[in-house]
Amino acid sequence: KERPRLVDALPGDDVSPDPSDPSVKVVVRVRPGNEQKRADEGAVRKISPDSLVVGGRSFTFHSILGPESTQEDVFKTVGIPSVNYSLAGFNTSILSYGQTGTGKTYTMWGPAGAMVDGSSVNGEQGVAPRLFRMLFSEIHRKQESSEEKQINFQCRCSFLEIYNGQINDLLDPTQRNLQIRGDARNGSHVENLTDEYVTTVEDVTQLLVKGLANRKVGATSMNSKSSRSHIIFTCIVESWCKLSASKCFSSSKTSKIILADLAGADDGILDATGKQCVRERRHIKKSLSKLGKLVNILGDAEHPPEDHKVAYMGSCLTHLLQETLGGNAKVAVICAISPDGGSRGGTLSTLRFGDRAKQIQNKAVVNEI
Ligand code: ADP
Repeated sequence: KERPRLVDALPGDDVSPDPSDPSVKVVVRVRPGNEQKRADEGAVRKISPDSLVVGGRSFTFHSILGPESTQEDVFKTVGIPSVNYSLAGFNTSILSYGQTGTGKTYTMWGPAGAMVDGSSVNGEQGVAPRLFRMLFSEIHRKQESSEEKQINFQCRCSFLEIYNGQINDLLDPTQRNLQIRGDARNGSHVENLTDEYVTTVEDVTQLLVKGLANRKVGATSMNSKSSRSHIIFTCIVESWCKLSASKCFSSSKTSKIILADLAGADDGILDATGKQCVRERRHIKKSLSKLGKLVNILGDAEHPPEDHKVAYMGSCLTHLLQETLGGNAKVAVICAISPDGGSRGGTLSTLRFGDRAKQIQNKAVVNEI
C-alpha cells in the first residue's frame, strides 16, 4: 500500500514527507455573516474550494473554508498536517491573520469553555487544543507500537504576548517587557520566558487556558471581546530512540510548533471604561505594517538577503516570526475574513496579505541530531 503524504495522513497512518507539499500553505476561513442579506450582496463570492472573488478581484489559495466550515474542517486542513510534520522532525507553524471579529481567536483556540473535555461546546474546540490532543495520542501510540526500540519524547511550552511593542509572559504575568537575545544565525530566544514541561494534553490545555485568560482584550464595535495583543504559543517536541537491546541512541529529533494569533489593525478599540485605546492601535498598526513589509520582501525573489535581515529586525513580531516566515518551518497561514459587505476593505487587505504570503518559500528540513 502506498504511504499517504504527510498532508493527507490521518492519525495512525504511516506517513512520509513529500517534497512537493507547499512550505507555506495559505488557507482562507470565511466566518458566518452578521448581515441579514442575500449571499450575492455580501463582499465574498466563493466560487470554488480554492478560489474566491471579492470586489471584482479573484484570489486563489490552497484552500477556502466557507462560512459553513466546522472547527474539525479547519483542523483537518491545517492541524493534522502540522502534527504529522512535527512528529517527522519538521518545525511547523500556524499563523492566524485578519481584521478584528473575523474569527482568528475562535479558529485558533475556540471558546475557553470548549477546551475542557466533556463540555457541551466541545465541538467548537479550536485548532490548538485539537492539535495537542492528536500530538499526545500519536506520541503514546508510537511508544506502545514500537517493540524493538524505546521511543522517548519530551515537550516544553511557552506562551507570550506582544502588547504595545513589549513582550510579556502569558504564563507568568509578573514577567513583563522581556528582551529577545541572540540573532537569526545562532537562533534567538526570549530571556526569562517561562518554559513549562508537559506530558499530557491536559497539561497543555491548562497552559492554554491560563495564557489566554492573561491576554489583553478590549471591545470594538465589531466584537465585545477583541484581542489587543499578538500572542505566540510555542511547543518544542524532542524525541530520541534507544535500541532496547544495546540501549544505544539510534536517532534524535527536535521540532518546534509555533501558533501565532495576531491582533487586527482596526479602528475603535475601546478599553473597559469605553475609552479609545489610541496607543494600542498605533502599536498594532505599526507592527502589522512591518509584518506586511516583511511578507512583501520575502515573497519577492528580487530582494537580496540583506533586506530580509533588516525586515526581520523591524519589530518584536517580525523578529519572533523568523522561523515561520522565510525560515525552517512548514507553515499554514489562516486568513480570517468576514463575508459582510461592510468589511470589504479589510477583507481585501487580508487577502492581499495571504496572496503575498503564498509566494514565500520556506526551507523546511528535518531537525535530526
Ligand atoms: P477575532 O479574534 O478575529 O477578533 P473572534 O475569534 O473573537 O474574532 O470572533 C468574533 C466572534 O465571532 C466571536 O464571538 C466568535 O465566537 C464568533 N465566530 C467567529 N468565527 C466563527 C465561526 N466560524 N462560527 C461561529 N462563530 C464564530
